[in-house]
Amino acid sequence: MTIEEMKTELAKRLKPSRYEHSLGVARAAVKLAERFGVDTKKAELAGLLHDCAREFPQDKLIDEAYHRGIIVSPIEQVIPFMLHAPVGASRAGELYGVTDRDVIEAIARHTVGGKGMSDLDKIIYYADMIEENRDYPGVEELRKLAETVSLDEMLLAGFDQTLAFVLSKHGLMHPDTVVARNEVIMRLM
Ligand code: FE
Ligand code: FE
Repeated sequence: MTIEEMKTELAKRLKPSRYEHSLGVARAAVKLAERFGVDTKKAELAGLLHDCAREFPQDKLIDEAYHRGIIVSPIEQVIPFMLHAPVGASRAGELYGVTDRDVIEAIARHTVGGKGMSDLDKIIYYADMIEENRDYPGVEELRKLAETVSLDEMLLAGFDQTLAFVLSKHGLMHPDTVVARNEVIMRLM
């Protein structure tokens, strides 16, 4: 499938705002990839498809995960939304013919991060937070960082923003996010 064919397919499956968000993430990811010397084609592809399983309702996501042999952790039982990342990674292969492991991994990790994130993983995580359609308190600051500081420094700011939000809601924290954030902090020490 070409990128244009993927866009046509994606536009049919996602609601318009989600489709626009996906295009925005692809654009933001390409910009970051250029800045950090990462393959821009992979960044575009991962950005475009990162939310390709986002149309599944919550209960369906659990079924889809089991059906694909994806391990559903206790936290994902409670917040099935998080599964759109690994389920999307699997669908990127089946439905859109993606075979690139780096792209598949970046899609799988875009929501909560993970241990040993690659530069592409980091770029997709961050592009998802700052793409042009995003609007939340603090987004402008994160957009500025995307042009100034290192990828790890950006990612730390992104994790902090996410965790601050979760804390303010007294919400559950995914352990993979904590692991990924600790790794970044130790690298920056
Ligand atoms: Fe997502
Ligand atoms: Fe997204």
